[in-house]
Amino acid sequence: MSTPLQTKYTLSPITNNIPRCHRPWLLRLRVTCLSQSSHKMKLVVEQRLVNPPVISTDPNLQSTWTHRLWVAAGCTTVFASFTKSIIGAFGSHLWLEPALAGLAGYIIADLGSGVYHWATDNYGDESTPLVGTHIKDSQDHHKWPWTITRRQFANNLHFLARGVTLIVLPIDLAFDDPVVHGFVSTFAFCVLFCQLFHAWAHGTKSKLPPLVVWLQDIGLLVSRTRHVSHHLAPYNNNYCVVSGAWNNVLDESKVFEAMEMVLYLQLGVRPRSWTEETDISKC
Ligand SMILES: [Zn+2]
Ligand SMILES: [Zn+2]
Repeated sequence: MSTPLQTKYTLSPITNNIPRCHRPWLLRLRVTCLSQSSHKMKLVVEQRLVNPPVISTDPNLQSTWTHRLWVAAGCTTVFASFTKSIIGAFGSHLWLEPALAGLAGYIIADLGSGVYHWATDNYGDESTPLVGTHIKDSQDHHKWPWTITRRQFANNLHFLARGVTLIVLPIDLAFDDPVVHGFVSTFAFCVLFCQLFHAWAHGTKSKLPPLVVWLQDIGLLVSRTRHVSHHLAPYNNNYCVVSGAWNNVLDESKVFEAMEMVLYLQLGVRPRSWTEETDISKC
């Protein structure tokens, strides 16, 4: 039978059982009355986690010209590094070494994305030097995961583009070695675009370009299904967001949990994944 919810029961006892971070997304709340006795009614609440209501006009998700300039600068430095690698390979007739260095850059970038993501998810806050903004963005992402798919391109990439520009530019100027640039260009490309790969992991198959879906399905980009686990309890796995190739290794060996314990024992700092606050913020 169906009973008007508001007349017999207030929403508060139901919503109290739902993590606070979910409540803003509760656009649809279907309550089904399964059985009714004299003293209690069993209710099944099906919550649909759908996109937050106000997205497209949120200025925090839109690109500014500063964002675009940093992304352009990052892409330019990566392209310069890649060009140096190709030119150096032509000049030295060495192709295998730069190619292997490029492969290593791709593989290590995935590992680096996991370590960085773990660190910023668990430690520091908005006031942390250099990465405070990104930590704030990461925490917001855990409160409203789907907003990443609504972020405009440069808005999503500009923070890591700054880091890439400031690190790769001096390398471009200082080195001509094709092997060095084989590694640097691929590594920096993956770092620069990892937030795009991350956003694609939150996309729906029908709305993503077929090429992206294919790359996700064959494991060259982080998969949608695996990344979902990162946003579910216990919120301490699947940190890598380039290919995700390192996720199994890192999670099964409990590397991050061991690092968290070492940091706790040495410095007394608890990771956010241990706290209720994070359980709420990481839904
Ligand atoms: Zn995260
Ligand atoms: Zn995510």
